[in-house]
Amino acid sequence: MSQLPFTSKLPDVGTTIFSVMSALAQQHGAINLSQGFPDYPCHPRLTQALGEAAQLGHNQYAPMPGLPALRQAIAAKLQLQHGSAFDADAEITVTAGATQALFTTIAAVLHPGDAAIVLDPSYDSYAPAIAAQGAQAIRVPILPPQFAVDWERVEAAVTPRTRLIIVNNPNNPSTSVWGTQDLAQLAAIAERHNLLVLADEVYEHLVLDGLQHHSVLAHPALRQRSVAVYSFGKTFHATGWKVGYMVAPAAITAELRKLHQFLVFSVSTPAQHALAAHLADASHWQGLSAFFQPKRDLLAAGLSQAGFGLVPSQGTYFQLADYSALQPDMDDVTFARWLTTEHGVASIPVSVFYAQPPQGMRVVRFCFAKQDSTLQQAVQRLARV
Ligand code: PMP
Ligand code: GLN
Repeated sequence: MSQLPFTSKLPDVGTTIFSVMSALAQQHGAINLSQGFPDYPCHPRLTQALGEAAQLGHNQYAPMPGLPALRQAIAAKLQLQHGSAFDADAEITVTAGATQALFTTIAAVLHPGDAAIVLDPSYDSYAPAIAAQGAQAIRVPILPPQFAVDWERVEAAVTPRTRLIIVNNPNNPSTSVWGTQDLAQLAAIAERHNLLVLADEVYEHLVLDGLQHHSVLAHPALRQRSVAVYSFGKTFHATGWKVGYMVAPAAITAELRKLHQFLVFSVSTPAQHALAAHLADASHWQGLSAFFQPKRDLLAAGLSQAGFGLVPSQGTYFQLADYSALQPDMDDVTFARWLTTEHGVASIPVSVFYAQPPQGMRVVRFCFAKQDSTLQQAVQRLARV
């Protein structure tokens, strides 16, 4: 059949930039600093626990909201982080990665004709998930090099149809980390306009230079009206496991689960057993800044020596680099492809995260969740650019 027997919900969506750049890296044997995933193994006890769980026979459906042991371990972690109690039964739902938590929330909240505010540069899954509901993404740009949010501009974008604001802190791809003032502004706007906040906090533990992550869950007003989303893929160096969770007040969680049970019903049982055991040891998630900071410094120094301008990376495991001194006339998509095919290092162009990219933006994103030897090799190649 040459014509679809239905109308596409996402006529303008192609393959994600992450898949495109990883495929190009593979095709050209380039060092892949594009898509965000580690090239080193996750903790041996985690993989061992997965094998043991399967061998012990934990191979059938988990309960719909997640394994009780994992939800209790998450509640204990949240209590330790934020100093208040979370109800493992009513407020925590285990999901197939953060991606499913994001989509589930967006689908639960938005009706056709509704609007959701998205701050650009935005992670690539938000806008298509909104469009798939027949709703509108209102995209408010945040500009380099500071990537500071203009909260007046955000509030001016709210309309009577706006139901949701999606935020991502620490931010991918801008690598900025919010202060308490940002959360106060967000809370004021959400309360004035009765918005739900969808807080993508998958990089909560990847905050550098002694900065603090300020979660919506630690803010009393925001906690009442937020869905906070997390990813074990990021925290435990296991992006392929695709397990995450979402935390929201009981009444909101009940609505999210109505959709969750028909999207996935439940999530990998042996993986949940392994994660529950691993989470209990706080040292597995508390030392991530110390682990990543030297990697960030190694890559940043190499980029700087190679003639790139650096946007300070406050959080996530990405480093933004301005290449305007090297190739002033190349747009970033062309530059990222050229760097991959001609110099053997793959990155991600940042303009693709904007509905309307800032004029003349010359910035690409490099992932430093890599072995030091990989980063050293990349730096050597970049020195020849
Ligand atoms: N949100 C952001 C900001 C991300 O960078 C990613 C990619 N890890 C996700 C969500 C998706 O996470 P997951 O792989 O757990 O679905
Ligand atoms: N979150 C990853 C990144 O930002 C990509 C995940 C994906 O490919 N969907 O690189």
